[in-house]
Amino acid sequence: MTTATIIGSGFASLAAATSLADKGAKVTVVEKNASTGGRARKFTEQGFTFDMGPSWYWMPDVFEKYFNRFGKSVSDYYDLKRLDPSYRVFFKDEQVDIPSSFQSLIELFEAREKGAGQKLRKFLEDAAYKYDAGVNDLVYKPGLSVLEFAQWKVMKGLFQLDLLKNFKDFARGYFSDPKLLSLIEFPVLFLGAMPQDTPALYSLMNYADMKLGTWYPMGGMHKIVEGMETLAREKGVNFRLGEPVQRIYQNGSMRVVTDRESISSDVVVGGADYHHIDTQLLDESDRQYKSKYWGTRTMAPSCLLYYVGVKKKVDGLLHHNLFFDTDFQQHAKEIYKTNVWPESPLFYVCCPSKTDDSVAPQGMENIFMLIPIAPGLEGDSEAIRERYFDTLVNRIEKHTGTSFKNDIIYKKSYSVSEFQKDYNAFKGNAYGLANTLLQTAFLKPRIQHKNLNNLYFTGQLTVPGPGVPPSLISGQVVADLIAKHHKLN
Ligand SMILES: Cc1cc2nc3c(=O)[nH]c(=O)nc-3n(C[C@H](O)[C@H](O)[C@H](O)COP(=O)(O)OP(=O)(O)OC[C@H]3O[C@@H](n4cnc5c(N)ncnc54)[C@H](O)[C@@H]3O)c2cc1C
Repeated sequence: MTTATIIGSGFASLAAATSLADKGAKVTVVEKNASTGGRARKFTEQGFTFDMGPSWYWMPDVFEKYFNRFGKSVSDYYDLKRLDPSYRVFFKDEQVDIPSSFQSLIELFEAREKGAGQKLRKFLEDAAYKYDAGVNDLVYKPGLSVLEFAQWKVMKGLFQLDLLKNFKDFARGYFSDPKLLSLIEFPVLFLGAMPQDTPALYSLMNYADMKLGTWYPMGGMHKIVEGMETLAREKGVNFRLGEPVQRIYQNGSMRVVTDRESISSDVVVGGADYHHIDTQLLDESDRQYKSKYWGTRTMAPSCLLYYVGVKKKVDGLLHHNLFFDTDFQQHAKEIYKTNVWPESPLFYVCCPSKTDDSVAPQGMENIFMLIPIAPGLEGDSEAIRERYFDTLVNRIEKHTGTSFKNDIIYKKSYSVSEFQKDYNAFKGNAYGLANTLLQTAFLKPRIQHKNLNNLYFTGQLTVPGPGVPPSLISGQVVADLIAKHHKLN
């Protein structure tokens, strides 16, 4: 029987572990933290249950396809609710709710810019093609060689996929209203890079947003992790939690050395941050990438986060709220180009207690605030965190017309140093490698080690990229590759 050790228990690792166990392998997951889920862990304080990381449930088809793979369905593990409106955007002078109905969205675009309704239809028809080709096909490739793409639909879609066009120009070919453009650009901006450095392929994210909708698993995003862990255990996966891996090497079989013992297996899958495995867990002679390589990667942003409990309802907020009341371009530059603390940041507020009574005590509000910041930012201090917190609360109060500063009964901040400490995250990144053209598909860090044939990688720093759905796919892709190499069924 093939044995496999999986490092980490984020979405990618859980998907890899379950897929391999389903194919008959004997699988052990080794996780440094006391609970599973990685960046999507949760914690409970004073009756508030906070999701620590992801909060947007996009691409429901990817989750359904994952559970279907094992003859299960999402509904066997958690209840999904579609949010309507999907989210609220606060601009300087107005607020706009994004409706879940496509027809209403077209009317909203048309009302702001003549002809934009029809253009949105066209933009999303094109994005639908990209979504189908990209999410249903391209991302399930292991990215081992450029040849995969030469054969892939005989390159027929390559031009239509707009890999070589940049997102910024592409979007401006359709729309000119600055507010509509920020609606179109925010998904790529929050997940990785400046629109001018992102291939127009990623308009598939707009399709996910505007056509497939924004969903919420009742009980919180952690329900996905719980569902995946339950399924993994059903398939016989063994979990060793609170056990950091310290070294990986090959001595006949593969060896994973933890703070407790040396585990031997046929195959190892590294689901912790790739940079950490490459530079900290492998022996010098087994490292694949030089420090110059890592130094020149474009990382997706880190974040400054606040988990906040408020002892009253904050009227004026929806479940998802984007505060675009300051200069979009300026903040993007500070994250991606000049790498400085933002002068006047855009930010995002999640208030899941608007949808879900279980995440806050009755009559109270569970609030999560996120400022995207440059990865590896230095100079983090309590004083800085306090200053930004005050700014954010003031801006929320101003735009919602609800004061709640004096009703905050719980507050915890989280940033670069915590990402490094909790996840061994390179530069404290939150979302892995940015989705730039030169970091797409076979140009990402390799999914299989080039010399140690039985060491594989998964997660948001390898194919296909950052985000919950891609991580889920990454775990399946690596498991399928291992199954092929090891002749599992
Ligand atoms: C604040 C935030 C908000 C986000 N929002 C969204 C969103 O709304 N929607 C979305 O789709 N995506 C979002 N993302 C991105 C998404 O959460 C990630 O892409 C995804 O969770 C990454 O999963 P992963 O399995 O690759 O890695 P991780 O979840 O990081 O898992 C890696 C695991 O490896 C473990 N590990 C590290 N080192 C070791 C070691 N030496 N030994 C053993 N274990 C180790 C870590 O503890 C961790 O559990 C967000 C991320 C963050 C941080």
